[in-house]
Amino acid sequence: MNIIIVGAGPAGMVTAIKAKNKNNRVILIEKNDRIGKKLLATGNGRCNYTNLNLSCKNYSNGDFVKETLEEFNNEDLINFFKVLGLESTTDGNRVYPITLKANTVLNMLMYWLDKKNVEIMTSTEVKSFHKVRDEFVVETNNGDFKCDKLVCAFGANSMPSSGSDGTAFKILREHGHSITELFPALTQLKLDSKYLKHLSGVKVIGEVKLLRGEEVIDRRRGDLLFTNYGISGPPILDLSVNARKNDIIEVPLINNIDKNIKDMLYSRFYMFQDFSLEYFLMGLVDKKFIHYIVDNLDLDKNLAISSLNIKDFDKIVNLLLSSRFVVTGNTGFKNSQVTRGGVSLNEVNSSDYSSKKVKDLYIIGEALDIDGDCGGYNLHFAIACGYRLGLKFSI
Ligand SMILES: Cc1cc2nc3c(=O)[nH]c(=O)nc-3n(C[C@H](O)[C@H](O)[C@H](O)COP(=O)(O)OP(=O)(O)OC[C@H]3O[C@@H](n4cnc5c(N)ncnc54)[C@H](O)[C@@H]3O)c2cc1C
Repeated sequence: MNIIIVGAGPAGMVTAIKAKNKNNRVILIEKNDRIGKKLLATGNGRCNYTNLNLSCKNYSNGDFVKETLEEFNNEDLINFFKVLGLESTTDGNRVYPITLKANTVLNMLMYWLDKKNVEIMTSTEVKSFHKVRDEFVVETNNGDFKCDKLVCAFGANSMPSSGSDGTAFKILREHGHSITELFPALTQLKLDSKYLKHLSGVKVIGEVKLLRGEEVIDRRRGDLLFTNYGISGPPILDLSVNARKNDIIEVPLINNIDKNIKDMLYSRFYMFQDFSLEYFLMGLVDKKFIHYIVDNLDLDKNLAISSLNIKDFDKIVNLLLSSRFVVTGNTGFKNSQVTRGGVSLNEVNSSDYSSKKVKDLYIIGEALDIDGDCGGYNLHFAIACGYRLGLKFSI
C-alpha cells in the first residue's frame, strides 16, 4: 500500500511511524524546510503531551473524541513513547518528556521515522489532489505523487509561522468537505484598562470569571498573569474562545481566596486601625495592586484605616475579591495554541477518521473541528489519531 501523509506535525509523524512496515510505502510531505516546527514551541519548549486527568470533557466535541480516548488514553501514550525510547515525567497532572525538552520528543520521532525508512519530503507544499480511478494524484510544488491512501494532517490556523496557516483547508473544500467557522482558542485576552502597564508581570492564583452583562459565561481556576496588553495564564487560555468584545473578566487580587476571606478582611479592618491603607494592603496583595486599588477608588495610600468609613472599605473589599476588566479582544491566531473549528465532524468517521466524502481519504489532528483545554489535551488528540490510523494501515 502507498500512503501519503500531508503535514509533519505530531499527528502526521506518528501516523507515519505506526503505518510503515515492509508492505507499506509511506511518504510524509511537509511544506516547511524541516519537520515538527510547532512541536518545538509546545509547552513553553517543554512539550506537555498528555494529562493524567483526561476525558472527553476536556474537548470541544467530546462525542467524536470518545472512541479515540477509549482506545488510546494517557497511559497508552506514555507507554507508546516508552517503547520508542522516550521516558516521561509529570508536573501536577501534566505529562512531559523526562528531559522537559520538546526537542527530545522531536529527536526521538525523527529517529523512528529514519529507522523505519519513512520518506520525508520537506519544502513541499501540497496544493490539491485528484483521483485517477482508485489512485490519488497529489499535486505539490515539487511535482505529483501517487498513493492509495491519503492522510490530511495539516493542522489548522494557529501559529501560522509554524506552517499551520489554514491555507490547506482549500484542498478539502475542493472535494466537498465543509470547514466550520474558525476561531483562535487558547489565546491571551486584551483588556481595556489604564493600569495594564503598571500591572504587567503581576501574578495571582484564583478563580477567573467571564461575564456577559451579569451572566457568568465561563469560570476557571489557576495561575493568572497580567500583561501590558491584558491577561494571560492557563485559565484565561481555556476560557478565551468564549470571550467576546465588551465581556467582563473578573479576577481576585488575593491569592487562593476561600469562603472565610470576607471574615478575614473585616477582622483585619478592626485589628489594624492604626495602619495606613498602603500597609494594610501590603500584607494581602502584590505591591503593584496597591496603586491600582487606591487610584481606582481615589483614595490616599497614606490614609489611616481608622479614618476610612465602612462604605469605602466595602469598595476596597469588592476590588480585592472581584476586580473587573473589559475585554477588547484576543491576541489572534498568531498567538493561539489551537483553533476552534475545522473539518466538519459530520463528514468524518470517528472510528478511523475516514472521510465520508472521498474514499481512502483520512483527516486527523487539529485539522478536525476539535480543540482541547490547555494541559496536554491537544497533543494527546493529535498523537492518538496518528497512532490509531497508523495501526490500522499496518495491520
Ligand atoms: C505555542 C504553542 C504551544 C502549544 N503547547 C501545547 C502543549 O504544551 N500541549 C498540547 O497538548 N498542545 C499544545 N499546543 C497545540 C499543539 O501543538 C497542536 O494541537 C498540535 O501540534 C496539532 O498537531 P497536528 O499534527 O494536527 O498539526 P500541526 O502540529 O499544526 O502540524 C501540521 C503540519 O502540516 C504542515 N502543512 C500545512 N499545510 C501543508 C501543506 N499544504 N502541505 C504540506 N504540509 C503542510 C504544517 O507546516 C505543519 O508542520 C501548542 C500550540 C502552540 C502554537
